[in-house]
This record gives sequence, C-alpha cells and structure tokens, in this order.
Amino acid sequence: MTATRVLVLNSGSSSVKYQLLDMSDRSRLAVGLVERIGEETSRLKHTPLTGGDERERTGPIADHEAALKAVAEELAADGLGLDSPDLAAIGHRVVHGGKHFTAPTVVDDAVLAEIERLIPVAPLHNPANLTGIRTAQALRPDLPQVAVFDTAFHTTMPESAARYAIDVETADRHRVRRYGFHGTSHAYVSRATAELLGKAPEEVNVIVLHLGNGASASAVRGGKCVDTSMGLTPLEGLVMGTRSGDLDPAVIFHLARVGGLSVDEIDSLLNKKSGLVGLCGDNDMREIRRRIDEGDEQARLAFDIYIHRLKKYIGAYYAVLGRVDAVAFTAGVGENAAPVREAALAGLEELGLAVDGDLNAVRGDEPRLISPEYARVKVAVVPTDEELEIATQTYALAGKNN
Ligand code: ADP
Repeated sequence: MTATRVLVLNSGSSSVKYQLLDMSDRSRLAVGLVERIGEETSRLKHTPLTGGDERERTGPIADHEAALKAVAEELAADGLGLDSPDLAAIGHRVVHGGKHFTAPTVVDDAVLAEIERLIPVAPLHNPANLTGIRTAQALRPDLPQVAVFDTAFHTTMPESAARYAIDVETADRHRVRRYGFHGTSHAYVSRATAELLGKAPEEVNVIVLHLGNGASASAVRGGKCVDTSMGLTPLEGLVMGTRSGDLDPAVIFHLARVGGLSVDEIDSLLNKKSGLVGLCGDNDMREIRRRIDEGDEQARLAFDIYIHRLKKYIGAYYAVLGRVDAVAFTAGVGENAAPVREAALAGLEELGLAVDGDLNAVRGDEPRLISPEYARVKVAVVPTDEELEIATQTYALAGKNN
C-alpha cells in the first residue's frame, strides 16, 4: 500500500495551524489550530473531517514540541496517528526562502542552515518555521519533511522588477531586493484561473489580487510571476489590514528625526498600526463596510485609500503584462467583499475590465467569473487554498524521493 497522507504545518511564533490531507483524492481528513503557545491560556482546536465533533483543549501548552505532540494525540484519537505508515510526508510553510529556494525542497541539514541564514530578512517568521520543522523531524525522523516557500513563486521575477534602485554593492551585501510573499497563493490562484478559462497556465496572463489581512498583487505571465507588490518584507505594496504598504522612504527618516521615534517604534507603527486599522481603527472589511453604510466618513476615506492603491497596482500590472486575460480576486477580502471588487475595477471599461453586478453579488466557495459576457478581460473570484497547494507540492516531491 502506498502512503498517501500529507500533514501540512504552518508554524507561527505562538501558533501552529495544521491540516491532514489524503492526496489520493485530495480530501481533508482533519484541520486544526494551536494558539497562544507558551502562555497559560493556550488553546487547541481540532476538527475531524472523517466524522465526529470539533474538539477543544485549553490550558498551558509550553512550546512547539508540546503543541505538535498534542496535535498528534488528537489525530491518533481519530485513528489518524502520525505514526501511521499511511503518512507520506510533512509539508511546512516557510515564509522566506530568499533567492536560493526557487521550488519546494526536501529538508536536510544544508536546507535548515540556509533557512536560518535568512533570519535577518524574516526575523518574525523564519525562526518559527524552523522550530516547526525541527519538532516534526524529531517526531518522525524517517519521513521526508518538505519546505514550501512563500517566496519561491516570485523567483522568476526579472532583475528589473526584483531590484530596488539603490547602490548595487550595498544591496547585495545585505541581500536587499524584492522577494515577494504569498507565493503559494499566487501560484495556486493563477493556475486555477487558467483552468477556469479552460486554458493552460502557459497561455494566459493574470493579475492576481490576494486581499487578506496581508495583501499583495502579482503579475503572472504564462504561469510565471513577473512582478509582485511585496518586497524585501511583506510591508511594501497595497494598503493592508495593519500595514501601510508603499510610502516615501523619507517618511521613516522624518518620523525618526522630527518625530523622535525609534527604529523599532517605526517598524511597529508601519506593520501593526497602519493600513486600514491606522486609517480608521478597524481592519475587518465587514466592519468598515458597516460603518460606511452608517455614514462614517473616516471609514469611507480608509476604504477609498485602500481602493485607490489597489487600482494603481491593477493599472501598473496591466502595463507590465501588456495583454491581460484575467484579473483574479482571492483571500478573505477578495473572496467575500463584493464592494471592493466593484470599486477596484470601476471606470476601467476602456481597459476591457468590467464587473457584472449580479454575478458579483453571488457568494460561493467555487472559482467563478464575475465579468459580463462581453468583457475582453475576465474577472474571477478564486478561493485560495494554500494548504492544498503545499500538500500537492509536498506529495509530488516526497513521492519522487521515497
Ligand atoms: P489572513 O490569512 O491574511 O489573516 P484572510 O485571507 O483570512 O487573512 O482574510 C481576513 C480578512 O478578510 C478579514 O480581516 C476581513 O477583512 C476579510 N473578510 C473576511 N470575511 C469577509 C466578508 N464576508 N466580507 C468582507 N470581508 C471579509
């Protein structure tokens, strides 16, 4: 019997999200989340999808090792233990793979060392991802562990898009360049959009708008990324839930020199207290729309700034691609917020872009078109599935290596 199960782990600094999938039919067997690791009030939420009710554990979970052990116990209780011979591999989301990792990679000591070397450019994410991998290795040393990098899909960007216009030697010494993030989602959604159009990925040019709490746009030509809006870190680009996105870099000098803020304070301001939350106090698009409906001017302005930036990127990537076959919306806001989709494309009929009001209002979990029949450029809503993409890539690679 061949092993067909893949465990996908997304390890954050104080959380672990997991899914167990059966790749023989791409079905999900269990999903769950451990949060507040290291605190007194840790919580594990486990949802078996093969039958049975959702379960919750509360109380201290000291570290990632304890978290993964608890996950293994929950899975074992469903008859899906991680010691099972059916488990083919463990796939890990790794945020920063730098220039080096252009594809998913089976983890060995050299790979771990390289992920560690990238910590200075991903200080929040890579240490947690490493801990996740090491913990999983200890649990099942015999299994292939596969690292799937958020940056990998963007490594096809040409130098003209990947470099900042700063001194080359300084940039290279400190590895300052545009890496891009959300790559697993951009890869999955651009491929699914081609499928929705009934074409091969190589045949279509797509602008993907991943609008979650973090948000990024990408220009994908024939299945390959040629530009994306996030840069050295996920701070660049679109207005996000709590991040500013693009700004004049001199704002930072100004805040330091004139405002007296420290580098850490500015970092926190731009990453955690800016974007929608900085503009109006809310980062949930549902709440912002509710406030707008009540006539709240601050929420209206935050929405307008969000849309203005989004529209600028759509125009920019239209120019980068030259010919656009589809614009695809994905992630929490992109999949659910019809007013965002409508406003972002309003007035772009001359570019062949339009949204059908009725189609846009329909909710659903399946990829769908929301452009009118006559539109030259199709507009799609494509629910992203980063876990399935990680599992697919992990299984493809681990299969070869088994
Ligand atoms: P992330 O993975 O970056 O945390 P998600 O892709 O889950 O984010 O998106 C979360 C965001 O999606 C929320 O902050 C909220 O703004 C938005 N969102 C979720 N559901 C809806 C909805 N029904 N209508 C509008 N926005 C929504």
